[in-house]
Amino acid sequence: MMAGIAAAEQGRQVLLVDKGDKLGRKLAISGGGRCNVTNRLPVAEIIKHIPGNGRFLHSALSIFSNEDIISFFEKLGVELKEEDHGRMFPVNDSAQSVVDALIRRLDELGVKRWTNCPVKTVEYDDGGVASVVLHNGEVVEARAVVIAVGGKSVPHTGSTGDGYAWAKKAGHTITELYPTEVPLTSAEPFIKSKTLQGLSLREIALSVLNAKGKPLITHKMDMIFTHFGVSGPAVLRCSQYVVKEMKKTGLGEVVMSLDAVPDRNEEMLFQDVMKIVKSEPKKALKNSLKGILPERYLMFLLEQNELDPLGVGATIPHDKIRSFVASCKHFQFRVNGTLPLEKAFVTGGGVSVKEIEPQTMASRKMNGLYFCGEILDIHGYTGGYNITSALVTGRLAGLNAGKFAASSGWQAE
Ligand SMILES: Cc1cc2nc3c(=O)[nH]c(=O)nc-3n(C[C@H](O)[C@H](O)[C@H](O)COP(=O)(O)OP(=O)(O)OC[C@H]3O[C@@H](n4cnc5c(N)ncnc54)[C@H](O)[C@@H]3O)c2cc1C
Repeated sequence: MMAGIAAAEQGRQVLLVDKGDKLGRKLAISGGGRCNVTNRLPVAEIIKHIPGNGRFLHSALSIFSNEDIISFFEKLGVELKEEDHGRMFPVNDSAQSVVDALIRRLDELGVKRWTNCPVKTVEYDDGGVASVVLHNGEVVEARAVVIAVGGKSVPHTGSTGDGYAWAKKAGHTITELYPTEVPLTSAEPFIKSKTLQGLSLREIALSVLNAKGKPLITHKMDMIFTHFGVSGPAVLRCSQYVVKEMKKTGLGEVVMSLDAVPDRNEEMLFQDVMKIVKSEPKKALKNSLKGILPERYLMFLLEQNELDPLGVGATIPHDKIRSFVASCKHFQFRVNGTLPLEKAFVTGGGVSVKEIEPQTMASRKMNGLYFCGEILDIHGYTGGYNITSALVTGRLAGLNAGKFAASSGWQAE
């Protein structure tokens, strides 16, 4: 949609072909149905939050930035508001209003839309694009083609990975696909017994450890325990590192470390606990320590350390308090995989960015061919970074496909 708008703004005749009955189905469910349109952090931060080839977007963001996305939508009548971590949402909290605004703009510009119309393949001729072949057998000639069919995640929205074959046919490399921004599975007894199921922990620090026990990455955000493992923003952000570490070591599991009190170091926390225990020596631990951790997690860690929740502070040996504090700071548990790619928020891997012009999104393999969005080997954290990448690359792909078609003097019949 973004590419269609940009190409039509160049005065080109544009046809948007989508296999779904509606446009923007994934966008309409993104950000919990509120569409996290973009993020207001500075561009350097945006790039940092796109661990999958974010640096490739440097040029693109200097041409069309996150601030340009915000102005673009405001001009279309979609007012945006900023929430935590720079996340931008429509003021009316309706993702559909973002999709509708894009469709209105497509219509204003006279972009033809064919929905319920799956593309079968793209044909190439003489080093350039020739046509788009539809599943119904129809052949649409085109001077320039933008492939914007997304990745392979959540296929019921239409993104079923069809575009990789068309890219390969043009000579492109497809880097290995894997789930990212995906919940993690665990066979730990406390997960299997559902002891913590449904418990959310706020602003914890979650780390993925390498085989030597050193943190590969740490994310300070919220998380939740589920019936199959762990999820929530901190877990989603850690997930790609788990996938890569499991692949690297060939082991069936990776150790995660959970710091439930990241703002206090271990010694400070020990002193805090000692002070509480000494000032209230006759109070049961589960009551005296409840300011330190959410109650369910406190009970869990007391039990893990074989501390009686009803035991009173005065009777607890120091070494027991030390081990309890250590588990508040780095409770370790093993994860053994992720939910499948289809259930991931984002697809890792895709069309290699080495074969794409970073200022134009043009293919380096085929004239008149452009790519944008999740089909590219670019993936960001949730928080608006994937949508930002899709919108920015879409804008540039459409703009330059339009220019390319114009420079060739080609007009559709
Ligand atoms: C539940 C969920 C929540 C998300 N939340 C966020 C978030 O908060 N922030 C964020 O940044 N990202 C989020 N994402 C990721 C983000 O939505 C995607 O990265 C983004 O939509 C990718 O855009 P795209 O245009 O590349 O692909 P898509 O949005 O997947 O669109 C691809 C389009 O191509 C069409 N298509 C596919 N194959 C064919 C074919 N053969 N012929 C014709 N048409 C075809 C599809 O029907 C679809 O309309 C979320 C994803 C999910 C699943």
